[in-house]
Amino acid sequence: MEMLNEINHIMIAPHFNLSEFACPCCKRVMLHPKLLAKLVELRDVLEKPVYITSGYRCFEYNRKVGGVANSYHLIGLAVDIKVKDINLIQLLAYAEEIDFAGIGFYEKKNFLHLDVRPTQRTRWRE
Ligand SMILES: [Zn+2]
Ligand SMILES: [Zn+2]
Repeated sequence: MEMLNEINHIMIAPHFNLSEFACPCCKRVMLHPKLLAKLVELRDVLEKPVYITSGYRCFEYNRKVGGVANSYHLIGLAVDIKVKDINLIQLLAYAEEIDFAGIGFYEKKNFLHLDVRPTQRTRWRE
């Protein structure tokens, strides 16, 4: 099944491939267009690659990585990102400008969680 290696390998925006958003265990993927649009905006202002360290997660994978049961990663509304050569505080400022509805600041693990939840704006820090 060599063809499976190509699954989701589709450029969906100038700097983003659908495969980057897929669940690592099963390659299934959900991605809301609003989330992608905001990531494209972020990529454009940063002028640096945005690495998706976690995109869509199936239930099994979400449990495995210790995600919360109602995680927005389960429905294609959230990503975790890393960007090289920029400190996390600066990256947070850019993300705030683009106004993601949910922003989690993970200082020790050095990544941001970004989501487009339909409910109230939420900010947290770990
Ligand atoms: Zn999976
Ligand atoms: Zn996350």
